[in-house]
Amino acid sequence: MDNISKSKIKEIQSLLNKLGYYNYSIDGFIENYTIDAIKNFQKNNNLKITGELDQSTIDKIDDYMTGYVLHTIENGDTLYDIARKYNTVVWRIITANPNVNPFDLTIGTSIIVPLNFQIVPTNIPYTYNVLENNIMGLSKRYPFLRFDSIGNSVDGRQLYRIRIGNGSNHVIYNGAHHANEWITTPLLMKWIEVFSEVYSRKGSIRGYDTEQIWNYATIDIVPMVNPDGVELVIDGVDNITANKDQLIKWNFGNENFNDWKSNINGVDLNRNYDAGWKEYKELEKEFGVDGPGPFLYGGTKPESEPESLAMANLTRSIDTRLVLAYHTQGQVIFWNYKDLQPEISLYIGETFAKASGYELASEDLSQSFAGYKDWYILDFRKPGYTIEVGKGKNPLPIDQFDMIYENNEELLLLASII
Ligand SMILES: [Zn+2]
Repeated sequence: MDNISKSKIKEIQSLLNKLGYYNYSIDGFIENYTIDAIKNFQKNNNLKITGELDQSTIDKIDDYMTGYVLHTIENGDTLYDIARKYNTVVWRIITANPNVNPFDLTIGTSIIVPLNFQIVPTNIPYTYNVLENNIMGLSKRYPFLRFDSIGNSVDGRQLYRIRIGNGSNHVIYNGAHHANEWITTPLLMKWIEVFSEVYSRKGSIRGYDTEQIWNYATIDIVPMVNPDGVELVIDGVDNITANKDQLIKWNFGNENFNDWKSNINGVDLNRNYDAGWKEYKELEKEFGVDGPGPFLYGGTKPESEPESLAMANLTRSIDTRLVLAYHTQGQVIFWNYKDLQPEISLYIGETFAKASGYELASEDLSQSFAGYKDWYILDFRKPGYTIEVGKGKNPLPIDQFDMIYENNEELLLLASII
């Protein structure tokens, strides 16, 4: 068990909690309560009862994390029976299997049975592995969602994009440009899950009709722009294939990467877009930055990094109405860039401020340099926003999640139709 990371143990504790085996703190330590929960889980899943996280136990837990199981139709099965057998509900099965006729089940075919819990965890560090796992689970559960990748990170991770809706009003939301602001990824993923669940029943969220949104808008969401950086912040250099010694050196010799914002080339992705980039490079020296590091280094040219390039390419490829970039520094919404934004930006910004309770930033323009929303406003003269969702030292503690979600649920609905 020695080589299982603390974040993985938290992931397991969080799942055992969802399944009803574990009711204690999600602390990443394997102590008595966790061992008891593992034993009970093993017992109910016909595994050897060891209380240890051996490979077959971990595999079984990983299966559950996707939030669904496969069931082969047997003689006499009804969806109601199947739902009961797996302790879930019929509408989830119908949603996940749009091509299965509930009144004419074909013996021997396999159907997806979503388990009766939400799959995006909001009480643990949200690693790239959790993201992949959630994407797999959501794609099975909600086949109307579209998933793909807009590129690869420096270290070879996918830059996933999830698409909601098929309307003509196109918007882009993204999170985790900055590695230690990874809490913005589960924010977007949770919102996708809630939206999809309600949409599958043609319901409303906060008075917003999800079917109307689906038909009016297309929402492209890139929940983790900087997956290598997120990996570094949560698990250190262990799962990174790039030069680990070099990374630690750039991190001022520190093996704890909590202050790290950059990608693993040591480039601050939100200082790597072509908007005042040259001006920014002058400032960089004043900040004492002279090369790759945890933050504020703008790279050797705009879009030098595969992550910022992929984000810019996606944005160029679509005729968008607006974009949102999620960050965490101060509960404030940035909306202007050198006064180049269209007039409506202020009105939309005020509406977002009202919906979220965040402050709309003053018109002080000194802070804007080479960021995604700056570049978007400069190049497209359309409304672009940086939404800073929290206060305190990064990475924000995960127990701020519920409040952050509460503040942003309506804003995320609104942004697709305003
Ligand atoms: Zn940021």
